[in-house]
Amino acid sequence: MSFGYITRRFRFCASHRYWVSGWDEEQNQAVFGSRTSKYGHGHNYTLDVTLKGDVNPITGMVINLSEVKKIIGAVVSRFDHAFLNVDLPYFHKIQPTAENVARIFWQLIEPDLPEGVFLHRVRLYTTESVFAEYFGSEDEAVFSKRFVFSATHRLNSDKLKDEENRIVYGKCNNKHGHGHNYAVIVSVRKPIDSVTGMTIPLKVLEEKVRNFLKTELQGKRLDMEVPYFSDKPATSENLIAFIHAGLEQELGPFLYRIKLKETDNNFFETGELFDE
Ligand SMILES: [Zn+2]
Ligand SMILES: [Zn+2]
Repeated sequence: MSFGYITRRFRFCASHRYWVSGWDEEQNQAVFGSRTSKYGHGHNYTLDVTLKGDVNPITGMVINLSEVKKIIGAVVSRFDHAFLNVDLPYFHKIQPTAENVARIFWQLIEPDLPEGVFLHRVRLYTTESVFAEYFGSEDEAVFSKRFVFSATHRLNSDKLKDEENRIVYGKCNNKHGHGHNYAVIVSVRKPIDSVTGMTIPLKVLEEKVRNFLKTELQGKRLDMEVPYFSDKPATSENLIAFIHAGLEQELGPFLYRIKLKETDNNFFETGELFDE
């Protein structure tokens, strides 16, 4: 019997706000900004639920997708078109952040699964570029955000002869360089703060990553203007190692993984694989 993973995507629309009742207006504003509005703000949420279990040798399935749709669909329908803070009792005491919403989904779905089928991961997108993941460990979650920067490079190795460089790197060896809109998805794995409901405030993550990208990479010719590449080719494998080391200084041991997209067709990863 083989073991398998299946993922089903659900979508729902909802509003929420962030407000810690023990804090005054100023404190709430400082941490949550405009997301404190008492009327809430909205998202088109995307929920990816990954299940795992043995593949039934007769049906060839871990679980029938129509059953998945029924079990998880019933949970999702309670969130759809709701003001999470008010309409759902789970968020009367905790903030409806992406991390907490993913965790609540886990808690609501888990008891309804048939025997032998287990949750592997709940991934919740609040926008196309921000998402949280929950893996079932007590209070820990992964929070990710996608950033972009633009840079140029030429692929060339000083350990190779000119002719060899042309053969190895082809067009990318053009000595005048060429450029990309790079995308970097940065993930942090941390306990969910019991007051803010966040692993890391989005503002803090944005500030640290944007600072690094702006100072080190944005608008630069990588192989000529970034000292790290003075003795190694400015390939994306080396670039992601440079970004990982730089962000590790900013985020410490909480940096969980990085995905670098050179183009929509070429991805590079460090840490845990994304399996998007
Ligand atoms: Zn929001
Ligand atoms: Zn290139």
